[in-house]
Amino acid sequence: MNKDYIYKNIRECGGRITKLRKGILQILSNDDCLISQADLLLKLKKIKLSPNRSTIFRELLFLSKNNIVIKNTISGIDYYEMANDHHHHLVCLKCNLISKVEADDHLEKQEKQILKNNKFIIINHSLEFYGYCHNCQT
Ligand SMILES: [Zn+2]
Ligand SMILES: [Zn+2]
Ligand SMILES: [Zn+2]
Repeated sequence: MNKDYIYKNIRECGGRITKLRKGILQILSNDDCLISQADLLLKLKKIKLSPNRSTIFRELLFLSKNNIVIKNTISGIDYYEMANDHHHHLVCLKCNLISKVEADDHLEKQEKQILKNNKFIIINHSLEFYGYCHNCQT
């Protein structure tokens, strides 16, 4: 992930590059898929950052509002991941495993269709497939 590009983006949104912000982006970039707020807090602690709940809430709100980070709620839990690596998810209903799956380009076609038919400008979408992972199929 291009850090400078992301930082530039943040400045353009009127944000400062704080230690906490850097830490969150570093963690989310190292982890290539959804991370829950609880896990994010644990990982922040490891790099000696321990924001309280309202601080982290405000931070994630800022980053997701500006489309730098994506918030995704699955089975009632809020997860976050970087917005620049678009993909879809497989969610196992038994063990709750979430895995990444390549995005198929037919949705891009549909987005163009929606823009035309509904006059709706799409900036993002999320797609989760629910089912049973290989280990949970027996
Ligand atoms: Zn993901
Ligand atoms: Zn499973
Ligand atoms: Zn997609």
